Amino acid sequence: MKIIELRSDTFTLPTPGMRDAMFSAPLGDDVFGEDPSVLALESKLANMFHKEAALFCPSGTMSNQMAISATVSKGQEVICDELSHIYLYEGGGIMANAGASVKLLKGDLGRLTKSQIEAAISPDDIHACESAMVSLENTVNKGGGSVYSSESLDEISNFCKKKEIPLHLDGARIFNAMAVTGQIPSQFGAWFDSISICLSKGLGAPVGSVLVGNEAFIKKAKRIRKRLGGGWRQAGMLAAAGIYALDHQVVRLQEDHQRAKAISEICSTLLWVESTLPVVTNIVIVKIREGLNSTIKVAELAQKGIKCSPFGAEYIRFVTHLGFDDEDLSRFEKAIKS
Ligand SMILES: *Cc1c(COP(=O)(O)O)cnc(C)c1O
Repeated sequence: MKIIELRSDTFTLPTPGMRDAMFSAPLGDDVFGEDPSVLALESKLANMFHKEAALFCPSGTMSNQMAISATVSKGQEVICDELSHIYLYEGGGIMANAGASVKLLKGDLGRLTKSQIEAAISPDDIHACESAMVSLENTVNKGGGSVYSSESLDEISNFCKKKEIPLHLDGARIFNAMAVTGQIPSQFGAWFDSISICLSKGLGAPVGSVLVGNEAFIKKAKRIRKRLGGGWRQAGMLAAAGIYALDHQVVRLQEDHQRAKAISEICSTLLWVESTLPVVTNIVIVKIREGLNSTIKVAELAQKGIKCSPFGAEYIRFVTHLGFDDEDLSRFEKAIKS
């Protein structure tokens, strides 16, 4: 039985073309700033997002954490949604790495509004914890892959600029967001001070994330990366995979979104499914009927060859990616209905 892998879009394997690109990548020592492939990836993304500089690093967690540590000082706070990856899934890094506090807001499927942020910013008062960064996530993983509209990002960005509060984007799935909204990278570069971009999710590279921002910020982040042990040597093989992903595997993200919609429709016909969150990108979050347990349900589905993730006790998450094609979709339908 071939396993249908829907636990995460991190399960993608390098495609044959990507492997070729990795194999033939020119290499050097990146700690010395001499890996041509890493430099090419960094300048490609900096140019694409209209930012001065970029920094390649091993994971999205590291690039988010570098951004926070480079921006927020001990005793200050980050404002973000309560569903944020930076808060829920980064090992308490805001506190442990930056020594910072966090103010959690309850958004709509993980999306904040300008008025919510405005109301949350600490007053200029010595009793308060100083608000030093606003961090958004787009698409929102725990929000079922929800995306921000340009209008909303315009408002939030203008407000943060006026208040001189740095605005960070956890853009692990930023290319999925752009694939549905038609927004372009330079718009994000203008909206945000720093952006973390994952190459190893839907884009299909085996490893790596890139942080973009201005020169001074990236210089700081680079020092933090080194301190965390993330300075790497001939990382060009991984960077070449990232370049290949950007050149060849962005255009196909729409397919993942269509298959996610199909999964959601199939699930909505099942007796054990209560409802599904709206599907706009490659994430499907299904609410199971009361009295059922997500861990048990996930184990049952694994018996049928479908791998997915429990998302709290009442929800199950399916994520589509380049390792899940139309044939897998038909097999999924047969298996889940059996
Ligand atoms: C996957 C993910 C990250 C980064 O995760 P790593 O496993 O550290 O690469 C960051 N933010 C979001 C929203 C994610 O889904």
